[in-house]
Amino acid sequence: MPTIGVLALQGDVREHARSLEAAGARAVAVRRPAELDAVDALVIPGGESTTMWKLADAFDLLEPLRVRIKSGMPTYGSCAGMIMLADRIEGGIEGQQTIGGIDMVVRRNAFGRQIDSFEASLDFAGRGLLRAVFIRAPWVESVGEDVEVLGLAEPGDRIVAVRQGPLLATSFHPELTGDARVHSYFVEMVREL
Ligand code: GLN
Repeated sequence: MPTIGVLALQGDVREHARSLEAAGARAVAVRRPAELDAVDALVIPGGESTTMWKLADAFDLLEPLRVRIKSGMPTYGSCAGMIMLADRIEGGIEGQQTIGGIDMVVRRNAFGRQIDSFEASLDFAGRGLLRAVFIRAPWVESVGEDVEVLGLAEPGDRIVAVRQGPLLATSFHPELTGDARVHSYFVEMVREL
């Protein structure tokens, strides 16, 4: 059974851990570089990407995260976690850094104020419709040629789920719906890689 860390600086860590366990993985919290070294894969939860960036820096995790991700550790980022995995962001605060890894431009808070939070039904990776919860969510503005688009959402058929090799990202929060299909997809990726 793979051991999958959940970056536990901020955000809905417990819900991700529960979904990973439902999908057949062992879930552990990661707050220190030594804990990062001990996991096979990582989930970066939703929360607030500016805070997560500052905390990762303060906990001396930013560089170790970049190194592990560059060396091929399977990583799944949800919402703020998607922002953290983007090579480029729009709508960030002054100087905001990401971990990077996925060749894409992600726009923060993209769906706008009127629809701060909403639900949509969307097809994820050809595995049927799932209920997706968006909370001040980003969308993906553009992707490089090695990035596979796994999901689109109304309004506007925006890109909200992508994969590049061992890296997976969604704008939405599958950990909040009790549907473990996205986590199962990720655990399958971890087993294959
Ligand atoms: N708007 C948040 C950010 O910029 C993301 C929101 C979320 O993770 N639910 O990081």
